[in-house]
Amino acid sequence: MKKITIAIDGFSSTGKSTVAKQLARVLGYVYVDSGAMYRAVTLYAMQNQMISKDYFDVEKLIANLGAIKLSFKYNDTLGFAEMYLNGVNVENEIRTLEVSQSVSQVAEISEVRRMLVLQQQQMGQEKGVVMDGRDIGTVVFPEAELKFFMTASAETRAKRRYKELLERNDDVSYEDVLKNVESRDLIDSTREDSPLMKADDAIEIDNSNLSLTVQFEKLYALAKNAIEHE
Ligand code: C5P
Repeated sequence: MKKITIAIDGFSSTGKSTVAKQLARVLGYVYVDSGAMYRAVTLYAMQNQMISKDYFDVEKLIANLGAIKLSFKYNDTLGFAEMYLNGVNVENEIRTLEVSQSVSQVAEISEVRRMLVLQQQQMGQEKGVVMDGRDIGTVVFPEAELKFFMTASAETRAKRRYKELLERNDDVSYEDVLKNVESRDLIDSTREDSPLMKADDAIEIDNSNLSLTVQFEKLYALAKNAIEHE
């Protein structure tokens, strides 16, 4: 059976990665979390004092992009690939609210995007990949055979994200999480380079009121159909 490329884009915390992981698992495809790559670059900038709440040395980050080596390593126990920054597992550190609060500023920089898009395209060269992000169906794989665009209300998304952060024992308030979700949506969809938008041929899924099972069944049926017609 021919392999296809599945692109899943959408706003922050719309559950893209949950359904992308499920699809990749049943199809035997590789799952790539492109947001993890932007988060890892952000963590690098934070660790090297290039960015903080009210400071961002864009030029310094651009000058140091060559020193950032990103890789994914599959974790058998977790069942997905974890993010490594210069050989160190940063899967946990990149999910904090601090990283979330700076990542969209880093993702606005064209030099960063060029570097990451190239790596993402290389990872998807052989097809058989499910990749989630903001510009996968529009910029990274405009020829993808199947594209989804996920949406849900900002409150629904902030509640989901808040629950996830509490489960990690992060000390955050719901208001800060909601503010972060809204501000990332705004920066992501209004930036000049590759703004978040629905590709013309993407299937829109509003999952505000969909259970994970129903959502998965829906996307899986569409994926099977797309693969059969290849
Ligand atoms: O998907 P996630 O919420 O982890 O992504 C974190 C941030 O990375 C997004 O808010 C966005 O600013 C950026 N991003 C992007 N393009 C992608 C994936 C993520 O600009 N393909």
